[in-house]
Amino acid sequence: MEEFEKTLSRQQAAIEAERCLYCYDAPCQAKCPAHVPVPEFIQSIRSGNLHGARTLLQSAHPFIETCGRICPEEAFCQSVCTRSKIDSPVHIRELHRFVTDSTDPSDRMELPEATLGKVAIIGAGPAGLACTRELRDRGFACDVFEARQIGGVPSQEVSTHRYPREIEEREARFLISTFVTHLHMERVTDVKRLVTEYDAVFIATGLPSESDLRIEGVQLAGVYHARELLRKMKSGATSGAGDRVGVIGGGNVAIEVASMLREEDSMRDVIVVYRRGIKELKAFKKEIEEATEIGVTYQFLAIPDKVVGSEHVEGLQVTQDHLCGEDESGRCRFEPLPGSSFIIPLDTVVVAIGQRVDEGAFPGLARSDSGLISVGENMETSVPGVYAGGDAVHGAQTVVEAVRDGKKAAEQIAAFVAGGK
Ligand SMILES: Cc1cc2nc3c(=O)[nH]c(=O)nc-3n(C[C@H](O)[C@H](O)[C@H](O)COP(=O)(O)OP(=O)(O)OC[C@H]3O[C@@H](n4cnc5c(N)ncnc54)[C@H](O)[C@@H]3O)c2cc1C
Ligand code: SF4
Repeated sequence: MEEFEKTLSRQQAAIEAERCLYCYDAPCQAKCPAHVPVPEFIQSIRSGNLHGARTLLQSAHPFIETCGRICPEEAFCQSVCTRSKIDSPVHIRELHRFVTDSTDPSDRMELPEATLGKVAIIGAGPAGLACTRELRDRGFACDVFEARQIGGVPSQEVSTHRYPREIEEREARFLISTFVTHLHMERVTDVKRLVTEYDAVFIATGLPSESDLRIEGVQLAGVYHARELLRKMKSGATSGAGDRVGVIGGGNVAIEVASMLREEDSMRDVIVVYRRGIKELKAFKKEIEEATEIGVTYQFLAIPDKVVGSEHVEGLQVTQDHLCGEDESGRCRFEPLPGSSFIIPLDTVVVAIGQRVDEGAFPGLARSDSGLISVGENMETSVPGVYAGGDAVHGAQTVVEAVRDGKKAAEQIAAFVAGGK
């Protein structure tokens, strides 16, 4: 699949870099959860030192290839760019991507001997590998345990038109070959053995499960879970979806699967069915724009009542609603409009209404009401020496926030091991 967005040319990057005001307090850097030194790397682009720019990015952030492409910059660095008071913010993420696309990650890095201790990392996604890199950098040996595929959600589920396979493989290969002591392709569901074999454990297993939609008809053939479909398509297999698909949900996963299904077959109708309106969609703005551009359509203000069909999906019955005030969390409330039900004719329904932790894993660890792993300020769980971070602790977040967690946990783990010795 062709990428939606193209890398800036050298000339475009040079012009964009010239727009940076090099603010003394660098609000962009403070707002980036990984604290990428934004003005400094832009200065390196300006002086033509792209290798230096990569070194600066790499020193703050292990997933620079990934974030150069899929970081929601409008929520982070670019949202506070001082330049927007004059005209428009500097395109920081695009400059970030320009650097990673123009340089090579294969340079060998000088690492200390791994003599300070041995840490087990469960989950090779952004949080797990960020923690691994930071600990290895400090002189720890890190064994990584991964159930599916290294790289986490970006490798397994983000569509190839936003995040091409060769980029993802290049980043994961570099991180694994440089920082991981032993990679074990196995699912770990209990920390008992690891606690005795390692100096500390970091759990970064994300949100591997999906929420179920509890309405009539979801057992019919032609009803799928969104992330299951994303993984299938990302692995190179065809989705098996029909010609008229309804995607239920309004978050990133709904928009991602809708785009990927439309990209797979441009003759297919893909309709996102959402209870609220366009302004309330939770997906990133850029993703919504890209989906709309390739022909994804929307049925807003519609509550799914039941999936209709005898053996296979034939449609989705919905009731129209209207928005009315806000709930305690500040989100819009919606109310059904009596007598407004209608059927959207469909042959496939995709459920994309939320992600969940693997509740059966890690018995004995304290959890929040929503099942997320509970940690203290120092990211330690209820079991001493066992730390956790990323989506498994905070719920659905972003890659750069998972990286922040991995870095912070590494600092805490290093202090814990040093204290114990
Ligand atoms: C479809 C989709 C699109 C997204 N798009 C974006 C985007 O554009 N930009 C952005 O910044 N964020 C995006 N996100 C969010 C982002 O991917 C996550 O916030 C981030 O990957 C979380 O990192 P993590 O390391 O906590 O967990 P994960 O990325 O989920 O990694 C966890 C890893 O642990 C492994 N694992 C799970 N259970 C076990 C076990 N028991 N034993 C061993 N291994 C296990 C998993 O296989 C996985 O590799 C998206 C998420 C989804 C679902
Ligand atoms: S990682 Fe994201 S927030 Fe940080 S500088 Fe890059 S694009 Fe901006």
